[in-house]
Amino acid sequence: MVPRRPIVVAGAGVGGLTTALALARHGLPVEVYERRTAEEIRTAPGSGLTLWSNASTPLGWLGLGGRLLAAAERVVEIRNFDSRERMRFAMRTHPYIRPDALPSLSIGRMDLADILLAACAERGVPVHHGRRVTGYRQTADGVEVQADGDAVTGTALVGADGVRSTVLRQLRGDVPAIYLGRSTYRGVCAGTQGLVPEVPLLFHDEATRVGGGVYPIGGDRAAWTLSWHAPAGEREQPGGEREHAVRLARVLPPVLRDRVTRTPTEAIIRTDIWYHEWHETWGDGAVTLVGDAAHAMPNDLGQGACQAVEDGVVLADALAAGDLGTPAGVAAALRDYERRRRDRVKWVRQQSVQVATAAEPRTAVARWAMGKLTRLYLAVAEKGMWQRMQQPPELTVQPAAVAS
Ligand SMILES: Cc1cc2nc3c(=O)[nH]c(=O)nc-3n(C[C@H](O)[C@H](O)[C@H](O)COP(=O)(O)OP(=O)(O)OC[C@H]3O[C@@H](n4cnc5c(N)ncnc54)[C@H](O)[C@@H]3O)c2cc1C
Repeated sequence: MVPRRPIVVAGAGVGGLTTALALARHGLPVEVYERRTAEEIRTAPGSGLTLWSNASTPLGWLGLGGRLLAAAERVVEIRNFDSRERMRFAMRTHPYIRPDALPSLSIGRMDLADILLAACAERGVPVHHGRRVTGYRQTADGVEVQADGDAVTGTALVGADGVRSTVLRQLRGDVPAIYLGRSTYRGVCAGTQGLVPEVPLLFHDEATRVGGGVYPIGGDRAAWTLSWHAPAGEREQPGGEREHAVRLARVLPPVLRDRVTRTPTEAIIRTDIWYHEWHETWGDGAVTLVGDAAHAMPNDLGQGACQAVEDGVVLADALAAGDLGTPAGVAAALRDYERRRRDRVKWVRQQSVQVATAAEPRTAVARWAMGKLTRLYLAVAEKGMWQRMQQPPELTVQPAAVAS
């Protein structure tokens, strides 16, 4: 049964917009409330994102495969070097995707946002910009959501409002975020000279513990990242970001360093890496969470947005299969979604935390031993780990073939 009131989604990030498109695909009414204005989204500094096959494929099920392939660059392998460009290891990822899946893709975050927002507009999914969700109240027949002073009534509320989620805070009280101890600069630069097509290049300087990566994102552009150990909240004087980034990048090879130098300060974003303690409760009654609001994880495996995409399609699948005629039926469908996602997200999060918190060896001998162990581990575990990581979610309503 199609409910009369919409499912309200708080947040128009990757998780919120995917959830909205997946619900609309099942003919369920949905409305999105986003705190940022359309102008703020359009003019945000650029950065890149990898959508592994476990996320590009479900987006293909939503009819976005052709647009993604046109906008993005495939990813077939990752290469990891020290700061003197000596290869530490390479990992092939493409052989381990399902034969019927879309490839893994690196894409500009703005391009992905444009694709998702354009699809919402075409499919009649309202996205209300500049409307912050400040709280909610569960009622006898659904939820009443506060969006900047207005009360919006809905069948259910999906908190897709990121690591500092307002919906999570009301649901579970203050959930302390964990600071990974690392900060990042990110930017996008024209030109792909010196890069290897379809292969992100990662670098790490053992002496300074500065790391970085550079990879093509389609449209003859490359995205770059720098990461280093820093206290939470530390910031440069406004306007000093580029100078700081250039200083950090001095220890890294020219293919990355030169791109940092060429990026203007206003196009550089600084982000501290925060994540959540694992918790199993993502919802209550007519309220649930997707993406970082439910399970923020370290960015080392590039799976945070991918898991948000998986959440969105599984949530819509559970609601489409549920009895939405009664509040009990809605709550049961939401709990079914949470149950179906728990083990998968827990595993991906565990892998990400392990990589992010692995001890960095301080001596040459320890580094040599760690290098050997890493290569041995990859030789044995690479296939199983990439197969499992890139596995798209199982749905009960059979998805259409991916658009190619
Ligand atoms: C350096 C770095 C690199 C990364 N690389 C990758 C990668 O390669 N691949 C990958 O999969 N993941 C990557 N991630 C992780 C990824 O960015 C996040 O996991 C992902 O953006 C989470 O999506 P989301 O929709 O859950 O939340 P968000 O992207 O945080 O979106 C939340 C949205 O909600 C809005 N919002 C917040 N509060 C409210 C409110 N109260 N009311 C209304 N709207 C609200 C926000 O404005 C925002 O639009 C990376 C992260 C970092 C920091």
